[in-house]
Amino acid sequence: MSDSSRRIRMRAAGLLTGTALLAATAACGSGAADSTGGSAGGRPEVTAALYPLQWLAERVGGGDVAVVGLTEPGVEPHDLELTPAQVAGLEKTSLVAYVKGVQPAVDEAVEQHAADRGFDAATLVTTLAAGEGHAEEGHGEEGHAEEGHAEEGHGDEHGHEVSYDPHLWLDPSRFATVATRLGEKLAAADPAHAAGYRERAAKTAADLTALDGELTRGLANCASRSIVTGHEAFGYLADRYRLQQVGISVDPDAEPSPARLAEVAEVAKREKVTTIFTETLVSPKVAEVLAQEVGATTAVLDPIESRPAEGDYLSAMRRNLATLKTALSCS
Ligand SMILES: [Zn+2]
Repeated sequence: MSDSSRRIRMRAAGLLTGTALLAATAACGSGAADSTGGSAGGRPEVTAALYPLQWLAERVGGGDVAVVGLTEPGVEPHDLELTPAQVAGLEKTSLVAYVKGVQPAVDEAVEQHAADRGFDAATLVTTLAAGEGHAEEGHGEEGHAEEGHAEEGHGDEHGHEVSYDPHLWLDPSRFATVATRLGEKLAAADPAHAAGYRERAAKTAADLTALDGELTRGLANCASRSIVTGHEAFGYLADRYRLQQVGISVDPDAEPSPARLAEVAEVAKREKVTTIFTETLVSPKVAEVLAQEVGATTAVLDPIESRPAEGDYLSAMRRNLATLKTALSCS
């Protein structure tokens, strides 16, 4: 078993013992908490596991729900550990919006404490297999090292044994579907405000569809279509807009092997890549070394796994589009 699997099991054990259990039981058994169960000031409470879903819940829920985020701004979400208070909160929240496979701690906690109130975005759209959109696939080089890298790496480190790529919010057309379904879910849960949920969901889906159009047009004619990224978060973006992702590493925390680095450098040279992309929350060191080796520059491409320093999901995606247009020389 890998380190991460051990870590996950230890986390789960921790949740079930000692103060965490007491806190959860107290929240569950107290009459006052129960009578308002899942509401904040009379409004349903939506718990959002990571920023993109928090943005969506705030947009679709409007003033009719209270949104609680589990991932603090600036925190790399994959390794999130939940506090006892957050776990207790799951016992009484109305809905937990998450993407199974992004945050093992959240997946476990939803299973154990909110199984009947989970809203898993990955069940609502067609998912891509982990590693899809990878440049190596396009070249038909199915080396054994490559396969192991994509499948095992993602399953162990990046998620809860899921075989798909969980970063689905980076395709606005898929995310529009999630917006619509969230509106339906909230309308069913809180019928008194159904019209508002549906109206805001439609507006949000329209904004996402417009963004999708901008990306389609902006990335239609580019001198290069290969994107070398820090961790393989951009499979959906690559798939939707016909780009090829070359991930230096699947796992944002792991140092790539020298063999993997050499392989990526070779692809970057062959594809005449001019920009190596780094991420907001991951150290750019490896990308900088690689860029120097192949004579490229670096630029930040945001996987929007955490709240952007400025603006919101939509403006962060537009910044990504501008960055890509420059890096890939799109007309
Ligand atoms: Zn990620």
